Amino acid sequence: MANIVILIGAPGSGKGTQAKYLVDKYGCRHVAAGNLLREEVKSESEIGLRIKDIMSSGQLVSDDIVNSLMGKVILSLRDNDFLLLDGYPRSVEQAKFVDDTVFRLKNCSVCVIQINVNADSVVERASGRVICEQCKAPYKAGDVERCTVCGCSSLIRRKDDEPGVVRERIKIYNTISSKVIDYYGSRVFNVSGDDLPDNVFQAIDKIVACEFGFLN
Ligand code: AMP
Repeated sequence: MANIVILIGAPGSGKGTQAKYLVDKYGCRHVAAGNLLREEVKSESEIGLRIKDIMSSGQLVSDDIVNSLMGKVILSLRDNDFLLLDGYPRSVEQAKFVDDTVFRLKNCSVCVIQINVNADSVVERASGRVICEQCKAPYKAGDVERCTVCGCSSLIRRKDDEPGVVRERIKIYNTISSKVIDYYGSRVFNVSGDDLPDNVFQAIDKIVACEFGFLN
């Protein structure tokens, strides 16, 4: 039996951290759709050339293209493989495609986990973050006076972390993800992300272990 976790969470929900915990604990293969697409652009493949402009404008790549890339990943699963999907599916068509592909695989189980966070806490956390203007090393605002990596004294807030930008990204995320969440309905496991990362992982780990029959 192969296993797939679909991890869904707003920008700032700590999805990346939780993905890392899962990889560390289970050695699962972590495939982020955005990374896969960026690799296509970088390698200047036929697909890469077609999606380059779409990606740099921040729009979503067509379902056909994303599904063809992710479909290959899913179909390559063998018994006992554990795949962690991140940033995919992002539309109902993609979610249906995953279901169809998994059905073709036959022996594969899917677990959908959504990390829920309060938008105000995400905005607050993002406002408390600065980066070194030069080398981009991240810090908590007020923790250091100059960058401990390169010594630069200019610590600035990333544009992405500005409250208005954070709220807009969450709004866009909610519009897109709510359709996918509706599609999955009662198959979605909800976890609160407004807690310490270790505690969030405990909740996620319990679900994964129970769904896939792993012994903890
Ligand atoms: P991300 O790294 O998740 O922020 O994704 C970067 C970019 O890749 C997005 O702005 C989209 O252009 C594209 N992308 C990533 N995942 C998907 C997806 N599931 N469907 C369509 N486009 C995607």
